[in-house]
Parts: sequence; structure tokens; C-alpha cells
Amino acid sequence: MKLTEILARNTFSLSFEVFPPKRNDAFESIQHAAEKIAALGPSFMSVTYGAGGGTSRYTLDIARIIQEEFGVPMLAHLTCVSSSRHSVHRQIEAISDAGIENVMALRGDLTPELEKSDRSQWDYHHAVELVRELKEFNPGFCVGGACYPEKHPESADQREDIRYLKEKVDAGCDFLTTQMIFDNNLFYNFMYKIREAGITVPVLPGIMPITNAAQVEKAIKLSGSFVPQRFKALVDAFGSDPAAMKQAGIAYATDQIIDLFANNIRNVHIYSMNKPDVAAAIVANVSEILG
Ligand code: FAD
Repeated sequence: MKLTEILARNTFSLSFEVFPPKRNDAFESIQHAAEKIAALGPSFMSVTYGAGGGTSRYTLDIARIIQEEFGVPMLAHLTCVSSSRHSVHRQIEAISDAGIENVMALRGDLTPELEKSDRSQWDYHHAVELVRELKEFNPGFCVGGACYPEKHPESADQREDIRYLKEKVDAGCDFLTTQMIFDNNLFYNFMYKIREAGITVPVLPGIMPITNAAQVEKAIKLSGSFVPQRFKALVDAFGSDPAAMKQAGIAYATDQIIDLFANNIRNVHIYSMNKPDVAAAIVANVSEILG
């Protein structure tokens, strides 16, 4: 099922993200975690794609199992910047052959090796090129793109970032998902600005439940997201007690989700990091609200 159909529903829903194993011996445990998350009844699930790394081959295997065996509509991520056009086209064909209709078209991060390499030799420079190729390959693909309420770290300013985002949407993005946010006001401000810029597709806010202190630094380093004082206080108070930190992190994420629902944002995407217990606790906290 296409995400555009799911997102048009008039009910509140959650979707969950999982990441693929790095090695074959971890496949079964991740499949098991995905099965438990699928059993929570999400509107859809997504599987990330390891840009240029070994995990990329497992993305489609996990996505296919979740969709075919666990019955949850899938969104398969795909990156392009560190890949040849030939390998990207092969992956697009494989996605199509697997019966997956939803693809998240991403550039991928610039690794230090890529940064040093000759850009004129790259087959892809930006996600917009992948969006175009996906739509050319199959106009029926439902294509998503990433967006950044606090601007992408490489952009000079938010105006420039939104200009390129509009270009990406005009190239064929059917929906957008945000980088993780810890302050919903950033999302509401961003929505106002992109709507002003003429971007009208659905936008899914991305929420990452932070359930241990070590995750905080890593998540923030990766995303560059703003961390409100209220969240920092929570980490200061409970960071050294794993059980308390987990409970507090789930409560904080739940609070964000309820606020988004109350502001009529119908689908919230959860960066669930292969943690079925965290996903289950969140679902339990909003069970009377979900459609
Ligand atoms: P782009 O849309 O290409 O944007 C990157 C930068 O280039 C921005 O600053 C943008 O403003 C600028 N830009 C865009 N178009 C142009 C243009 N035509 N000319 C000049 N500048 C331009 N990474 C993974 O490796 N695997 C994943 O599965 C994955 N999933 C993600 C899911 C979400 C929801 C998000 C938010 C990110 C995800 N990422 C993933 C990380 C992503 O690959 C990085 O954030 C990457 O740095 C940018 O990807 P993008 O698709 O947003 O790139």
C-alpha cells in the first residue's frame, strides 16, 4: 500500500523505523525485533540503508519480510551519493521486484573519504537526482524525501535549504520525513515556512525516544538537533540510572507525540532503533488516541 493513501487517513497513527543488521549473524535477532514492532500495528515501517556500507544488502531482505510475512506496508530507504548509477538502478529494480511501492530517496552522508574524492567523478550529488530517477523508473512509486526543521548542517541558511527542498518535492517527492526533533516548536515553525514556500506534501515529524544517556550524545552528534533545557535536565537527573532514564525518555517522547496529535499531525514517525520494548511502551501510552 502506498504511504500517500495511509497518510490521507483521518486517524492518528505511528510508524516505526528499524535499521538492518551489519552482519548476517545479526539478521535473525533484528528480524525478531522487527516482528515484535510489526505486531504493534504501525501504519507502516521503514528500513534504513547503509550508505555505501555492508548493511545496504540487508535493507531489502528485512523490508520484504516485514511486508510479506508480518503484513505491514514498507518504506525502503535508498541512498545514492556513494554509489554508481548502475548499482542504484539495480537496487531500484530489486525494490520494485520485491513489491515495495514506497522508497525514501536519500543522498546519504558525505564520509571523509568521499569529501576527499573528486566530485566530478560522482554519479550523484543530491537526493533530487534519485527522486527523478525513481519516478522515471516507475511513476507509481511513492517517493519520500528527508527534511530538516533546523536546516541541513551543510546549508548556509534555512532559506537556501527550503529552496532546495522545494526543488526535491517538485521533482516528485510525495511526502517528507523530518530529521529527529526534540522541540516540537521547531517543527511547527518549519511547517509554516515550507507551506509559505509552496511545499504542500504531507510531512512526518520524526521522534527519537532517547532511552539511555550514551544515546544522547551520539544522536545529537549525528543529527545536529537542538536539545531543549527540559530534556537536558532529564538526562542530568536520570542519566546514571538506566531504568529511570528509559522511563523518562519514553515519557518525553510520548509528550511530544501527544502534542503533535493535539496539533492535528496525524502520523508521527518513531526512530525506534530496533527496540520493540520502547515502541510497545509508546504505543501503550497513546493507545486510546491511535485510530
Ligand atoms: P539532499 O536532499 O541532497 O540535501 C543535502 C544538502 O544539499 C542540503 O544542505 C541541501 O540543502 C543541499 N542541496 C540539495 N539539493 C541541492 C542542489 N541541487 N544543489 C546544491 N545543494 C543542494 N542516511 C543513510 O545513509 N541511510 C538512511 O537510511 C537515512 N535515512 C534518513 C532518513 C531521514 C528522515 C533523514 C532526515 C535522514 C536520513 N539519512 C540517512 C541521513 C541523510 O542521508 C543525510 O542527512 C544526508 O546528509 C542528506 O541527505 P538528503 O537526502 O537530505 O540530501
